[in-house]
Amino acid sequence: MNQFLSRRSFILIPIMSILKFILKPYKVFASSETLDEDWNLSKKEWKNKLSPESYYILREEGTERAFSSKLNNEKRKGIFYCAGCNQPLFKSDTKFDSGTGWPSFWEPIKGSVETKVDFKLIVPRTEYHCSRCGGHQGHVFNDGPLPTGKRYCNNGLALRFVPD
Ligand SMILES: [Zn+2]
Repeated sequence: MNQFLSRRSFILIPIMSILKFILKPYKVFASSETLDEDWNLSKKEWKNKLSPESYYILREEGTERAFSSKLNNEKRKGIFYCAGCNQPLFKSDTKFDSGTGWPSFWEPIKGSVETKVDFKLIVPRTEYHCSRCGGHQGHVFNDGPLPTGKRYCNNGLALRFVPD
């Protein structure tokens, strides 16, 4: 009997937690958890500052359509800045063609992004955002090229490119 119970709970507990998870998805923390006081803007202030498309990406963790950004094919030398606060996030020499339709990088500029886990698609993904204004940039995956093996999959609308 005890053995039966423990076996049953062994199976049931993971099933229950998965069900609970599906029925009541984890709250995704707003990317707008602001990290620098100077960038602690209200929703209204952000809306005035950003285009509706960039607002949706940066402040509501939206994702742009694949292959929709001009920056996807940007190959010039330069710096990619946060479209929210202009903090430099990526150097062009860490950009690579991932074939995914989003600008992709194997390494951010040190200290410029922070990560958290999100469950928007049920499967946990690592979200990353600008360390200064908290604006959502994209997700990071472990299938990138050397030397880091990381793929920072970024929304073009969350970036501003300035060529050298
Ligand atoms: Zn920023």
